[in-house]
Amino acid sequence: MKSAAEQDELTMLDGGWARLKVPLPFSLRYVNAYLIPDAADGGYTLIDPGLHTAAAEGAWERAVNRLGITYDGIQRIVLTHMHPDHYGLAGWFQQKSGAPVLMSRASHAYAKRLWGEGRTFAAELTALYGKHGMPAELLGEIGPHLESFVALVSPQPEVTYIAEGDRLAFGGGEWTAIGTEGHGECHLCFYRPDARLMLCGDQVLPDITPNVSVVPGSGGGELRRFLASLDRLEAYDVAAAFPGHRDPFADFAGRIRELKEHHARRLDMLAGWLDRPIAAYDLCVRMFGERVGGNIHNLRFAMSETLAHLDHLVDEGRAERVRQGDRLQYKRR
Ligand SMILES: [Zn+2]
Ligand SMILES: [Zn+2]
Repeated sequence: MKSAAEQDELTMLDGGWARLKVPLPFSLRYVNAYLIPDAADGGYTLIDPGLHTAAAEGAWERAVNRLGITYDGIQRIVLTHMHPDHYGLAGWFQQKSGAPVLMSRASHAYAKRLWGEGRTFAAELTALYGKHGMPAELLGEIGPHLESFVALVSPQPEVTYIAEGDRLAFGGGEWTAIGTEGHGECHLCFYRPDARLMLCGDQVLPDITPNVSVVPGSGGGELRRFLASLDRLEAYDVAAAFPGHRDPFADFAGRIRELKEHHARRLDMLAGWLDRPIAAYDLCVRMFGERVGGNIHNLRFAMSETLAHLDHLVDEGRAERVRQGDRLQYKRR
């Protein structure tokens, strides 16, 4: 007998779209992949195939069987961004289908920094978190944790670049790529104006707030750029939004307003804790508490998000960085 999770994993949406909840071994539980048919050529466009695990391969084998399609019916693989839960299976699908993998150049550059030859990202991230007060025993987990993802994104795909403003024809319509920032470098959303559909990846999520991260080389101003991207997206007339996690939803502009309010509240809360100099790590633990305890994956997101908020407070003139030896702390201005 199938488990309840297996029965629920594949759902059919309007227009013959299939949505597969591809399993993840993290608190997020699954990532949404969308298979979008094209009546003209009988093929499919695959959005964000998932993380490369045995469980994900099994979910895809079941889905392909239930849909009665073959891998070589996939005409193109489109990635909103390079996070491993979206990018990880792209190379596996490319080998099975021969389809091009389309993503932004900046997002692919970041994938190469994380998982390419001669990578130094883990050492840089460990140094960044150390400077912001993370204890040594946790810092020691960062490198092995990041390296554990290499297998989950292999084989890596040959990539064809697409960019902000590009128009892509698939699923019987024309989609415009919208470059967004803050969750990842040049994360792409895709908008189809005639049907008012938005494929929004992780830039706008229902129920949970997209992670906004400071990582080595991410360029600065992550939260400012994230909020500016939300301002841009809010102007689109959207009837249905298809996110990377949780369920498709209708009130795109309403959700964007909630996300902005969330970040305003977070900034006020953090600013209220800066009476005396305090390290970002201590603020992270205070902000996220139990949810990050003992889970290096969640701690990494929480720490980078705390740094994004603190940087924003500094940029707004509400806080300042204070040097304590080779460490940094924050206090109210
Ligand atoms: Zn993501
Ligand atoms: Zn994701």
